[in-house]
Amino acid sequence: MCRTTRVPRALCALLVLLAAACGKEGSPPGKGPAAGRLPHYQVARDVRLPASRTWTRAKRRGHFVVGVKEDQPYLGEKDPATGTYSGFDIEIARMMSASLGLAPKTIRFRTIASANRETALQNGQIDYYVGTYTINPNRKKLVGFAGPYYLAGQSLLVRKDENTIHGPDDLAGKRVCSAAGSTPYQRVKADYPKAVLVAYDTYSVCVDNLLTYQVDAVTTDDAILIGYAAKVPSELKLAGRPFSKEPYGIGVPRGDNALRLALDDALAARERNGDWKKAYEATLGLSGVPAPHPPAIDRYPAGRGRTA
Ligand code: GLU
Repeated sequence: MCRTTRVPRALCALLVLLAAACGKEGSPPGKGPAAGRLPHYQVARDVRLPASRTWTRAKRRGHFVVGVKEDQPYLGEKDPATGTYSGFDIEIARMMSASLGLAPKTIRFRTIASANRETALQNGQIDYYVGTYTINPNRKKLVGFAGPYYLAGQSLLVRKDENTIHGPDDLAGKRVCSAAGSTPYQRVKADYPKAVLVAYDTYSVCVDNLLTYQVDAVTTDDAILIGYAAKVPSELKLAGRPFSKEPYGIGVPRGDNALRLALDDALAARERNGDWKKAYEATLGLSGVPAPHPPAIDRYPAGRGRTA
């Protein structure tokens, strides 16, 4: 569409992004999840977890309801034409369902934005959440976390023509976009107060704003930003090095320790049997970053989350 009309380059990139999001004119340049290479997860038989209210409810209704993201390439992305979700977080959600005795194909995925995750878990809207969800002490007061299953780090996404931003110390006076309720947003607010923060519900809206010169940088985890850069590599690049540790956990209702510990066991088993690595390689690994060692799982004792 851009070769035939006189569209400014950044706008053109935005149109390419939008077209991909609409399932029109080609999908992201050969970078979608490799459906054929996705592992098949053996569904565990005879699972019983009566101590978990969440599991008991899901078992009775016949499926899990899982909160995810829908606009994060390689991680959690929804195909608007088919409604199908794909990405590394989606695979984690699927392998967990299989380990807990419910076929992954029965999962109902619900898109939940960063700012609404705790409420969704607290009011029973979802059974568990898998979507670039950093484990931290504040959130542990509100929800439980299995994992971590991946370690990301906060980074910066800028336009290719940006040469003054090399790290968070260069953000003074710059317009920086992030998602409301996210740890990257909170970190910039607390540690880099001279940055002019702009918040939206999702990072994809931030990226649209970056491409149209309304903001100077987008900040969130490197794993997320790599996906946006890969969609329009001629326009976007990551700047500098990661400047935080973002251990991704599976969010569960806070009191449901039985579910949390069962998910910890399930993650450990899927890391041992190679499913974790296969899932990574078919999704996030397409960004060119080889599979890392998964981080050590933190099986914290019941009740610890309140003060930890
Ligand atoms: N991992 C960060 C967080 O949990 C940023 C990504 C996100 O908003 O999902 O806040």
